[in-house]
Amino acid sequence: MAAYDTGGFHFPGHDDPVPELTDAVERLRRERRYGSALDATLRHLRAHGQSSEAYRLALPLLHTGMRRTADPGIAEPVARRQYGNPYFAPIATECSRCTQFWYSGHDIASQVRLVVTNPIGLQCQVCRYTLCRNCLDPQKPRCPQQGCRGELGTPVVPTGRPRGKPANEFTEKLEHVMILWRSTPTSQEEAEELLDLACTWQDRGGITVRSQVNQSDTRDGEELERRMGLVLVSLYEREGMISENGLYRTRVLPIESPGRGRRLVFVTAAPETGAASRLSGPVEYLLFDDPDGAGEDAPASKRRWFRRRR
Ligand SMILES: [Zn+2]
Ligand SMILES: [Zn+2]
Repeated sequence: MAAYDTGGFHFPGHDDPVPELTDAVERLRRERRYGSALDATLRHLRAHGQSSEAYRLALPLLHTGMRRTADPGIAEPVARRQYGNPYFAPIATECSRCTQFWYSGHDIASQVRLVVTNPIGLQCQVCRYTLCRNCLDPQKPRCPQQGCRGELGTPVVPTGRPRGKPANEFTEKLEHVMILWRSTPTSQEEAEELLDLACTWQDRGGITVRSQVNQSDTRDGEELERRMGLVLVSLYEREGMISENGLYRTRVLPIESPGRGRRLVFVTAAPETGAASRLSGPVEYLLFDDPDGAGEDAPASKRRWFRRRR
């Protein structure tokens, strides 16, 4: 396999139809509601994993839906958070030198016989080493990859985003996700974004997503923050909100949340057997210190753990 061609999705020669999705996306696209159309493909990818039909529908939206200059004719443009969503990482092309990534029009072009002019970058036709327009020296078309004799040119195909935030390859079933915040509480929108980053391609059916305030002192450092979060996870486990030994199935992910600072996300995988291994249905978001699980007789006990210092 070529050195720079490991994480990208390559469209199969055959069709893989999903008529309901295609109809919904095409209707939204006719109404120029590109943001909603893209969300429909995103929901499909979250629920069903990689799908060539969802990618085929998403690619032109990602390619054209996000323009630098606002087009008043577009009812709903593609949002930046959608553009960078890790579920679309496999169809992105990333510069091998900097972290710029984009959605190349070449794969779409090959399907609808378009000619792509003025591409955002060029790619080695042998090893797929890719340079964006800023990193490219048009005088040097030779591939910079050592030992490669290829030339940079078109078509530019997806490479995935090996240097950006990659979509992780886990496919395990999840049970619980906790987001620790410090000064700004987690909104529903942010929680969904963080869930996509922390749990790409994982089965999140029926899971619970919570947010909790981080009570550790900022001077305590990340190690203590992690420990505090794990204490909360073990308390949830004791309360029966996470199944047995959940603490040992929890991994901690520090994530830079755009515009909101760093978050610690505690992702607990489901056990192999038992009720939590069969969770299904929509994700439940409990983001505002809900009194669930506290019990009738001790309504204040759970809140006490999370009360902020004054
Ligand atoms: Zn670059
Ligand atoms: Zn090359």
